[in-house]
Amino acid sequence: MLSLKAKRFEMVQCEVYDVIIIGGGPAGLTAGIYAKRAALKTVLIEKGVPGGQVVITKGVENYPGFSDVNGFELADKFFQHAMRYNLETIQQEVTAIEPGIDFHSVYLSNGEVLKAYSLILAAGGIARKLGTPGEIENFGKGVSYCATCDGFFFRDRIVCVVGGGDTALEDALYLAKIARRVYLIHRRDEFRASKILQQRIQSEPAVEIILNTVVTEIKATELGVRAVALKNTRTSEESELEVEGVFIFVGFSPNSALAPLGLNTSASGYVLTDEKCETNIPGIFAAGDIRQNYAKQIVIAASEGCIAALAAARYVDAKKPQAEQRAIKPGPAGASQ
Ligand code: NAP
Repeated sequence: MLSLKAKRFEMVQCEVYDVIIIGGGPAGLTAGIYAKRAALKTVLIEKGVPGGQVVITKGVENYPGFSDVNGFELADKFFQHAMRYNLETIQQEVTAIEPGIDFHSVYLSNGEVLKAYSLILAAGGIARKLGTPGEIENFGKGVSYCATCDGFFFRDRIVCVVGGGDTALEDALYLAKIARRVYLIHRRDEFRASKILQQRIQSEPAVEIILNTVVTEIKATELGVRAVALKNTRTSEESELEVEGVFIFVGFSPNSALAPLGLNTSASGYVLTDEKCETNIPGIFAAGDIRQNYAKQIVIAASEGCIAALAAARYVDAKKPQAEQRAIKPGPAGASQ
């Protein structure tokens, strides 16, 4: 028969994960691979399909080893790789995170509460809205944030793309192969996107670039979008451009609303960490697009997932014996959470 002490110790062992990963994009799945290889009891929670934003990316040309790969295919490779290590996954939304001294608690939308010594926040981000009249009302009726998903509906039509970053230029190039005409509308006179994309966009005949211009309204009928109202930021001249589709790529916001009270974030909501991807709350790590970092790239998200998992493994190694010791002590001192 097991002693009371041993029973309590066993209970702690089987109920608490070593690491809970929140988010199943490149950062989360890479963290999962490394965590499982470090023999950590790991679960990955993802509310949608695994793969994150990569799933809706058409062509990825800069992930080492893949000179041109479909985003969905790459995401599936990440997922299958993680599955080789039998990574446990739960498809649920995380509703809250509660930091603790020994364990952190993760609340799920089905009412379940999971506990872990360490957490890796890898929930990525979502497309930022333009905030212009007609945008939300016409989402799905001509307004889109995903060229791969919706480009097909605009075959031989006239569309515009708003934004000047990598996503806007990549997606304008993608749409140029489908649509009759693509207007690329950018608020400044120079693009933020990489030079290679700028060169490609300049030599794409189906793309017409409109600089120093903002969209002030998206106009529609019951049939869908019919035009955008424009304003030149230098001359203040206003005009109207007839388009049937408006693709908006003006950056994204981190999914950090779940960040527990006391977790340090930047003014734009990105989670701040040290070089080990550890936040100011011991045992809570962040990786990928949710994290304040130099650039948002698949390869960077994957590398941060790796760093976070390695650092979490070291943290768990040190933390677990102390937490278990506290758990088997009888009385109030044992009830550490
Ligand atoms: P981004 O780099 O933040 O670019 C957002 C663009 O939208 C900027 O040109 C910005 O203009 C413009 N913008 C922002 N708010 C606006 C507003 N209210 N009205 C009009 N324009 C507005 O975002 P992203 O292109 O989505 O890229 C996000 C990250 O992912 C970047 O680090 C990017 O390098 C990376 N990414 C990489 C690849 C790749 O390597 N294959 C592909 C996609 C994305 P300003 O320039 O004037 O600020």
